[in-house]
Amino acid sequence: MYDYIIVGSGFAGATAANILADRHGKKVLIIEKRSHIGGNCYDENDEHGILIHKYGPHIFHTDSEKVYEYLSKFTQWYDYSHEVVAYVDEDFIPVPFNLNTLKIAFPNDAEVLREKLVDIYGYGKKVPILELKNNDDEDIRKIADYVYENIFLRYTMKQWGKTPEEIDPAVTGRVPVLISDDNRYFQDTYQGMPLDGYTKIFENMLLNNENIDIMLDTDCKEVLKFTDKGIMYNNELFNGRVIFTGPLDELFDNRFGRLPYRTLNFVNEYLDKDSFQPKAVVNYTVSEDYTRITEYKKLTGQEAKGTSIMKEYPMTYTGEEGQIPYYAIINEDNLAIYNKYLNILSKYNNFYLLGRLAEYKYYNIDAIVLKSMELVEELEN
Ligand code: FAD
Ligand code: UDP
Repeated sequence: MYDYIIVGSGFAGATAANILADRHGKKVLIIEKRSHIGGNCYDENDEHGILIHKYGPHIFHTDSEKVYEYLSKFTQWYDYSHEVVAYVDEDFIPVPFNLNTLKIAFPNDAEVLREKLVDIYGYGKKVPILELKNNDDEDIRKIADYVYENIFLRYTMKQWGKTPEEIDPAVTGRVPVLISDDNRYFQDTYQGMPLDGYTKIFENMLLNNENIDIMLDTDCKEVLKFTDKGIMYNNELFNGRVIFTGPLDELFDNRFGRLPYRTLNFVNEYLDKDSFQPKAVVNYTVSEDYTRITEYKKLTGQEAKGTSIMKEYPMTYTGEEGQIPYYAIINEDNLAIYNKYLNILSKYNNFYLLGRLAEYKYYNIDAIVLKSMELVEELEN
């Protein structure tokens, strides 16, 4: 009956389902464990009528015209450029560290330091903190030490339970030192927030499409079985294709051990005041147990009485009921475990892995939408 079974309805699964059903006329079944579509990008009104992101703040940004145009079929955009500040020494300083932050951190010799940074790296360049730290020049070292101590060290310890040197350098490289006066967190060509929220995008992608059926509140393991004969759906051999966007270790009952992840505990508060903090996101890079606070109406542009904020407390993912694996911890040991799971799959030639969990990768929204579009193109052409 179905050409495709897609496990998970985040951006990976939803993009694939939408294109397969709409452009290729395929019959698609989506199986989703949660009671809603949208995966981690799901948003909803809280009890005070303020739109919040249930699984942490999501800002759309991309350099890909293809992705921007595709998603623009499902939403209009609220023109928003994301800016973040860190709370340091009772002050709010722009992050990524840039030439404006330099003025606050080194008020007495900012001009000299600015010239040096521009001379060495070039205006507009992005320099990962671990690279900046390797520079032998005394002044550059002074800046690097400041950035490391005040922006990266404690935030990273909270987020990952490890120092910046102990994690994949690509992770801290996501927030490089910026040799410019640009206070934006992202420099992508397109950035913004969906005007009516993310959930609406998913509804427009998936609902009211006669080629798409959605089964909510269902762990795929209840209906899919991996046997020597092949993949069974409801105890019958399934000859279509299966696209899986969940965690691979849990699909196979952790038989080679758990893949390590970090999870987050989100704590929401409503405050009876117009404004709580200067920007939508404030990072706590030297104090507190939480990493950051998001004030949602500053992110979405919503006008509301009072304001809703969210604190994020990172911790180890243990797999206990209700926890969600948010961040793959990418290193050699963990990739070796992942590869053991991949080996099981060589038996199934109609099974495809897609997404931040299934591929054990650090994907932003735009990257996973693009990857999903490419997978469908590959399968259908
Ligand atoms: P998910 O959204 O996780 O979707 C996977 C779906 O599969 C889930 O709905 C899950 O319930 C379902 N599932 C899993 N296992 C099973 C199973 N066994 N059976 C049935 N269903 C199952 N990206 C940005 O571009 N900008 C941002 O600002 C940004 N902020 C982020 C903030 C946080 C806190 C996090 C964690 C990520 C952020 N991201 C951001 C990344 C973004 O969330 C991901 O790129 C995107 O969600 C990936 O989509 P996905 O479909 O791969 O995964
Ligand atoms: N980071 C940091 N301090 C900050 C911002 C980021 O130490 O103020 C580090 C931290 O290790 C984090 C990584 O840079 O995990 C990537 O940050 P990003 O904002 O991209 O993380 P995400 O939005 O994916 O949680």
